[in-house]
Amino acid sequence: MSFRNTMTRFAAFALACTAVLGSASGATTPAERLAAALQYPTVSHQTADLDETAFLGLHRYLEQSFPQTHATLKREVIAGYSLLYTWPGRDGSLAPMLLTSHLDVVPVSEASRGSWEHPPFAGAIADGYVWGRGAVDDKVGVLATLEAVEALVVAGFEPERTVYLAFGHDEEVGGPAGAGAITRTLAERGVRLWFSLDEGMLIVEDGLFGVAGPIALIGIAEKGSLSLRLTARAKGGHSSMPPPTGAIGRLARAITALESNPMPLRMGGVWEETVRALSPHLPFRTRLFLTTPPFSWMARGRLSADPAANAVVRTTTAVTMAGAGTKVNILPREAWAVVNFRVVPGDDTGAVVERVRDIIDDPEIEIEVMSASEPSASASARSEAYQLLAGAIAEIAPAAPVIPALVVGGTDSKHYGQIADDAYRFTPIRLRTEDRSRIHGVNERISLDSYREAIRFYETLIESAASAP
Ligand SMILES: [Zn+2]
Repeated sequence: MSFRNTMTRFAAFALACTAVLGSASGATTPAERLAAALQYPTVSHQTADLDETAFLGLHRYLEQSFPQTHATLKREVIAGYSLLYTWPGRDGSLAPMLLTSHLDVVPVSEASRGSWEHPPFAGAIADGYVWGRGAVDDKVGVLATLEAVEALVVAGFEPERTVYLAFGHDEEVGGPAGAGAITRTLAERGVRLWFSLDEGMLIVEDGLFGVAGPIALIGIAEKGSLSLRLTARAKGGHSSMPPPTGAIGRLARAITALESNPMPLRMGGVWEETVRALSPHLPFRTRLFLTTPPFSWMARGRLSADPAANAVVRTTTAVTMAGAGTKVNILPREAWAVVNFRVVPGDDTGAVVERVRDIIDDPEIEIEVMSASEPSASASARSEAYQLLAGAIAEIAPAAPVIPALVVGGTDSKHYGQIADDAYRFTPIRLRTEDRSRIHGVNERISLDSYREAIRFYETLIESAASAP
């Protein structure tokens, strides 16, 4: 890019910053800094358009807000918009650790804007909460990590072990450009991580399976994802002389077959680890029900009936898109649908495709793989790194049992996990079950107390994990 271009862009960018920052530039407390960061609409879209001003504005804002971090750690911009920080350890022989979160957020639909108590990109602090898109997913991770590092640098802490901070810019669309590029960069440098810590699970404030809360869930694996496009074709023609079944009917039969034949239950693996860790805390009857045959066989039906539990124990089937037809009196020549499967560890996408073929059992339905990512490997729930995570959780939620669990959504750890011995997925914040819908929904918010704890968690973790072994 030419100098002039750069200058023009810089001027536009500086203007945008002043406009965006407004009150934000005066942020002096951690909560105010988080609130200010929420004012940058760093939205990820399925399409390629990216708001450059918002991302570069956020970079600049982080630089201004955490001066000691930026003076001490090496900062690299990867793939234009992602950030990689390196805090070199004194002992180069120790395997490094990675703390990661993402800079991007999901869009706010126009239809939902009116339902927000505070505008989604205003970064309001009210009623004991910081409000806005990204307050939970996942600027809380970015800002709390930087707060912790800043405090440690100011306090004179020097890590023995190298600490990487990675903040991708496209996690909400799978992270190929951001976390994917950061992972490749680190791999090319020969980096093998001791462990990585990403978003994924959190502290469930109001409990699970009859165990009173809080419960800290650490994600030790995540599901894969497979999207299939099903297409039924037919001759078409005028609707006055239709055949017994047309393209839409044929497709409908295939969809009904898929919905009424769920993928098999997988009660081993991560689920078994979750139940084992939870078991001492469970009420007697629930424990009997979940862990002791023949009751545990009966539990299968109940688990399947609950969408949240069902998502943990099997590959789920969700028909998400469909289309056919152009006019009331024309038989469509084609009908299509998209089915999204979230693939549980223990299954793989190839086997799911085969099973789908068997279930549909109709050679006239074309099955095309649109995208596929395999479920992750499982991190250890017995490693030293896991113990350190549990120790840092005990600092902020001493009463919470620490339970390994499966992440049913996707995270950037599908990338970082490739270069880590153990990839953990846990954001140190408290959320009530009823607040779950605020993530990617309306009125996303984090309580001021929970945010303070998150910073303390990262401080404790860095201090313990990056110190001499
Ligand atoms: Zn996220």
